[in-house]
Amino acid sequence: MILLKDVSYEWEDGRTALKNINLEIKKGEFVLISGKSGSGKSTLGSVMNGLIPHYYKGKMKGEAFASGKDISKLLLHEVGHIVGTVFQDPRSQFFTTTTDEEIAFGLQTICKSRDEIKQRVEEVYVELDIEELKGKSVFELSSGQKQKIAIASIYAMNPKVLILDEPSANLDMKATFDLFLILEKLKKKGTT
Ligand code: ADP
Ligand code: MG
Repeated sequence: MILLKDVSYEWEDGRTALKNINLEIKKGEFVLISGKSGSGKSTLGSVMNGLIPHYYKGKMKGEAFASGKDISKLLLHEVGHIVGTVFQDPRSQFFTTTTDEEIAFGLQTICKSRDEIKQRVEEVYVELDIEELKGKSVFELSSGQKQKIAIASIYAMNPKVLILDEPSANLDMKATFDLFLILEKLKKKGTT
């Protein structure tokens, strides 16, 4: 599902973040990448979701494929249909002010009809078992609830691959456990 062949990446300032990375992640696999701060985990995520080379303009070597397609030859939004990303600070990716609108937002960008969107938002609340968050202002959510909505908004678009960057970093024990339950559901549905 994800294939990296001898990938190296140097940021614009000349700093090397990745060196000769070879990695294959098969469909449905659940992979944890760990390493100390600054070791290149987020950079690796950016190679897999296409921000490198489409948005960040450092120097990339090697090849990266998602679902068999060369990421560098796709448009960024095309990569986005395959690989969804929940960034480290979920607040940084909120575009709207309510949970319903937030889950609908991504669906609007992929041109779904009003009825389809409404139905999908309902489905997502049920499938991820987060119906208690329906119709809330995003400002009244806890960190854990924000994380759930961030995941739900990406999940709604049905990406084959989901990348979560340090998803439990800002969560307490209970919220971390809830997050694990959601990840388990996503894995059961075959998400890589
Ligand atoms: P991690 O996610 O494991 O903490 P990063 O991928 O963020 O590691 O960082 C790896 C290296 O790349 C670090 O040396 C970091 O300073 C550098 N780096 C990360 N993001 C950028 C950026 N946007 N511009 C320039 N250098 C960056
Ligand atoms: Mg990081």
